[in-house]
Amino acid sequence: MKSLWSDSDAKDYVARYGARGVNEDLALRVYTTRLLGGDPALVLHGGGNTSVKTIAKDLLGESVSVMCVKGSGWDMGDIEPPGLPAVRLEPLRRLFALDALSDEDMVNYQRLNLLDAAAPNPSVETLLHAFLPHKFVDHTHSTAVLALTDQPEGEALARETFGERMAYVPYCIPGFALAKSVGETYARDPSVEGLILLRHGIFTLASDARSAYELMIEMVTLAEERLKRGKKTLSVM
Ligand SMILES: [Zn+2]
Repeated sequence: MKSLWSDSDAKDYVARYGARGVNEDLALRVYTTRLLGGDPALVLHGGGNTSVKTIAKDLLGESVSVMCVKGSGWDMGDIEPPGLPAVRLEPLRRLFALDALSDEDMVNYQRLNLLDAAAPNPSVETLLHAFLPHKFVDHTHSTAVLALTDQPEGEALARETFGERMAYVPYCIPGFALAKSVGETYARDPSVEGLILLRHGIFTLASDARSAYELMIEMVTLAEERLKRGKKTLSVM
């Protein structure tokens, strides 16, 4: 799998959206979200999500730390800035202290912290993005990563493929429990470049749009290459 990043396309997004008042972070977030969403081997229609942590102005003109995260009803392949609604970041982060949270309370709390009350619901995986500190967080349900991990020895295969560059999270239905599990797993080894969610997908983490995107391409390529080698050569420790 090849990176489709282009410096001139990236500049074009920044200029084009900048003219409409969209900041550079969000313009680049739109650009690489579309790159990921345009490849069905990474994201099926409506699946996957991305985020960027940035600064927005509230109604009073004050700077607010927010996370723009994919909203429901948007497809990554043709997403626009309104498809990545801004949610106040600090209230989201504080939820990490909770032991449990129902889906209803989570969705309501996320809506209460939107900068635009008319915005779509932030992704069900919003807290997962918020509990990771990186500016750019990319998440796909890559077919290759799923094929690798959706089998009885999936975790061993994944560890053999990605080694210590990634952290490994047991399967859990998306919601608060998964977000907390991801946050805790990350905290145990903050040197990782991403996380493999067994039988679910992959997250890549970086401080800039290009690195998070290209890490996704690199990791998915590793998964593809491991699958090509087949089961026979598997050396489970
Ligand atoms: Zn997911």
